Amino acid sequence: MTIMESALKPEAAVYTAVVPAGEPWLHEVRAGQVMRIVDLKGNQAVDTLFYNADDYGDRYSAQDTIREQRSIYLTTGTKLMSTRGNVLLTIVADTCGRHDTLGGACAQESNMVRYAIEKRHMHACRNSFLKGALEWAGRGGQRLEKRDITSNINFFMNVPVTPKGELTFEDGISDAGKYVELEAEVDVVAVISNCPQLNNPCNAYDPTPIQVLIWDRS
Ligand SMILES: [Zn+2]
Repeated sequence: MTIMESALKPEAAVYTAVVPAGEPWLHEVRAGQVMRIVDLKGNQAVDTLFYNADDYGDRYSAQDTIREQRSIYLTTGTKLMSTRGNVLLTIVADTCGRHDTLGGACAQESNMVRYAIEKRHMHACRNSFLKGALEWAGRGGQRLEKRDITSNINFFMNVPVTPKGELTFEDGISDAGKYVELEAEVDVVAVISNCPQLNNPCNAYDPTPIQVLIWDRS
């Protein structure tokens, strides 16, 4: 856990948006730009995918990221690796301290298995990813499809692994105003699903909005 504050000022950002819970958000972040995700109300789970903007086949890989940094949690200094061994982004600031990349994104199917058959109708991150992906038109006419939705990051989500290797979903460790900041090493497309989950203690059963800011590195 490496807490690192950022010197970047919100008023100097070239882009800012508030993403309500349950909504997707897609944006291109160019090499050298810095992207901040702010947990506005605290303990929100921000499911996120990254793709190389020039080739969506080169995308964020949880497996490669974990192996290269020899750690299962993401925090300041983590290099987000792609399926082809490239560094897509580096976490350059983090006031939460730890982020998950093991738990995956919530889906209607996993909601039924984990919680109850009656939860099937409830909105889930995979729906938001898919909605955002299908509406996205990238450079060179590139499109995102269902099969492009692979391993993801859950920013601000607390999924500790016990000494026995058990995966547990716990109360959040984030708080209102905590943020994580990433510098793009190559041009990337960021795809966020601001999680609508109502069955998981990680967000205190209360999904809340987030803010996204982008700066040009001077
Ligand atoms: Zn979710």
